[in-house]
Order: sequence, then structure tokens, then C-alpha cells
Amino acid sequence: MNEIILLKLGEVVLKGLNRRSFEDKLMANIRRRIQRFGTFRVYSKQSTIYVEPQEERCDIEGAYTACGQVFGVIAITRARPCAKDKDAILNCAKAYLDAPLRAAESFKVETKRADKLFPMTSMEISQYVGGLLHDAYPHLTVDVHHPELCVHVEVREKAAYVHGPSRPGAGGLPIGMGGTAVSLLSGGIDSPVSSYMIAKRGVRLELVHFFSPPYTSPQAKDKVIRLARELAPWCGRMTLHIVPFTEIQEEIRRSCPEDHFTLIMRRFMMRLAEGVAKRTGAKSLVTGECLGQVASQTMDALTVSDDACTLPVLRPVIGMDKEEIVRYSRKIGTFETSILPYEDCCTVFTPRHPRTHPVLEEVRQLEAALDVDGLTEKALAGVERIKITPITE
Ligand code: ATP
Ligand code: MG
Repeated sequence: MNEIILLKLGEVVLKGLNRRSFEDKLMANIRRRIQRFGTFRVYSKQSTIYVEPQEERCDIEGAYTACGQVFGVIAITRARPCAKDKDAILNCAKAYLDAPLRAAESFKVETKRADKLFPMTSMEISQYVGGLLHDAYPHLTVDVHHPELCVHVEVREKAAYVHGPSRPGAGGLPIGMGGTAVSLLSGGIDSPVSSYMIAKRGVRLELVHFFSPPYTSPQAKDKVIRLARELAPWCGRMTLHIVPFTEIQEEIRRSCPEDHFTLIMRRFMMRLAEGVAKRTGAKSLVTGECLGQVASQTMDALTVSDDACTLPVLRPVIGMDKEEIVRYSRKIGTFETSILPYEDCCTVFTPRHPRTHPVLEEVRQLEAALDVDGLTEKALAGVERIKITPITE
């Protein structure tokens, strides 16, 4: 076996008695994400998950990238296994890390010995391997405090492993541990980020998009499908529920005062999302709302939206500046799609002077002009469901 992937568990290890189920969930998530890269053995030992290729055709590069997007992992590295023998470890380090050893100016060897029966202590292994590496690469200086390259040696139960520096994993908690939520996904920048943030806390997502043809185009719908597919490497497989929204918007325009259009429309969004939640067993709603960003995102307006549903509404980007949201959006890979210039149903029939400080009782009275239950049920009956998989699949 040439190379394996080592994943360090994140917060998972803190969960006491739940730890076993967290690890099992995490390993199941990893297995599902890497299955298209070949047959791998995935198992855990001492807060580390091992991903071992079982056949020649395994795409280790692809699996490594996929593992970097699995929540619940704090650090990730590729490593080469070797025999549990001091010279085998030394030769493995020379062969596997030859290029970085040549390129670095300073180095150190750090050893962890999980196998307490191994005849040398961690310090003795580090000194032995470090000393002979120094002889083999005389340009290197030893720097135990700030080395340019740290050569890691881990002596474990079955084998020893050699690796260079690890990189940060995706963090968070394994998806599925935190239940299910319905995330309202528009075509904008904010809602893909809010979806990512809630998924990161271990929550499985059902996605809902409100679609208003002919006011919004087929390209706008394709854009949302694309965004959902870009989220899938982080959030796992999801279902996107496309809810027909045209009739509701037209009814609001016909029967309600213009300055309340957006507020009443948002109340329908919450009801419909809650309808999808009931059908899918989800226990909260997620939006990309941000305090003060637009008229419908003042505290008074949020009170009016929340009144239309009973489930908690999670708003992970509520206190973020646009710049911070954009930074996340670039990091997770949705930004370029989000800025494609297609309209959203929110931009259809936008009031010229929206109410920023609505009064709940007044909104409820204005809404009484509509057949709220009938419109909601009809829209839910027309939902189209799309299975979302990562773009590469
Ligand atoms: P975004 O960048 O996410 O579009 P935004 O700042 O443009 O956010 P709004 O358009 O007011 O804000 O929408 C606020 C939130 O309502 C969105 O983040 C999203 O969660 C939800 N939302 C808006 N439009 C839709 C839609 N067509 N389908 C599903 N959810 C929507
Ligand atoms: Mg929007």
C-alpha cells in the first residue's frame, strides 16, 4: 500500500458517551463521499480515521479532496505506511518526503507512539530518524521550535506512518448528528453560505426554492440547481424542493397594499418551508437573512416573518457584514454562480417604498384578504423534487 489518508477527529472526540455514534456517522459519511474513487477501507483508532485504498485503481487524490470537505474532521493528511522498525521508518521518510526535505532549510522529527510495546520511546525514535536524516540532507538545520518542515512519525498498532504537515479539515460536526433543517435557497450570495454554516454543525439539509415563472426564467432555476450541486460536496446529497410561487405573488399584488408586498410574500415563504419541513421531518428553517441588509431584514420585519411559522428560524449570517459573507462564499465555491445575473422571485413586484417597521397586527389584517391556506396547499401540491449530487458525479 503506497499511501493512505489520515483524518483527525474534531469536536467529535469531546462528546463523551456519544462519541461512538459520532464516529460511526462520520465514517459512514466518509465512505459515501469517497465510494466513487474506488474501494477503500475506513476505520477509526485513537481519534484518527484511516482511509486505506484497497485496489490499484483507487484515486487517492480525489478521495483526499473529498475528505477535506467532510464535516467533523479537524485535520487531514496523506501518509505512507511502513514496517514498525527504525530503519524502515527512516527509509520511508527519505523516499516519501525527499522533495520537501530537499526544499526546506530547517526541520525536525516529531514522533507519536501509540504502541507502547515498541522498544524505543518517541524521543528516541525522533532522535534516531532526525540524526540520520540530517546526515542524508546536510543542508538542513535542526530547529525544534519553528522548523520549516516537520516530519511526523506515528507508531501505531499495525504499522508506522510517515507524513509531512497536515492541513485543516472542514471542521464542524458530522452531518446527520444534528437532525434535519429546511434551508431556503435563493440564487443570491447569502443563502448558500447560511446553508453551508448550518450543515457544518451536523445538520442534514432539505433545500427549498421558490420559483415564479414566467417572471423568473428557466436560467434562474438552473442557477439554483447549480448552487445546490456546488454545496453538495460539503452538505452531502440533498433534495431540492422547487415550489411554484407565481400565483401567490400575483394574489398578493392584486389584494394587498404595495408597501406590504415583500412582508406578506416572506410570510408565505415561511409557511411553505414549514410545510416542506413537516413532510420531511425537519425541525427548523434556515435563511440567509442579515440584520439591516434590506427592508425585510429589520427586527420588526423579522418578527412579522417569524409569526407565520412555528419552527425556529436559524439565521447564521444575521450578524455578518456582506464582505464576510462573500469571503465564505468564495471559500466554499458558490460565489461565481451566485453573481450570475438572473432574477429571483424577491425582485419581482418589489415595492418602491417597502415598510421597514411593520406592525404585526396590521399585516395579519391585510393578509386576511387572501385565502392563505388554499394558496399554501396548492403551492405545496405542485412541488417539484430534484435529487442533488455533486457536480463531478
Ligand atoms: P440571498 O443572497 O441569499 O439571496 P438576499 O440578501 O438577497 O439573500 P432576500 O432576497 O431578501 O435576501 O432573501 C432573504 C432570504 O430569504 C434568502 O437568504 C433566502 O434564505 C430566502 N429566499 C429569498 N428568495 C428565495 C427564493 N426564491 N427561494 C428560496 N428562498 C429564498
Ligand atoms: Mg435573494
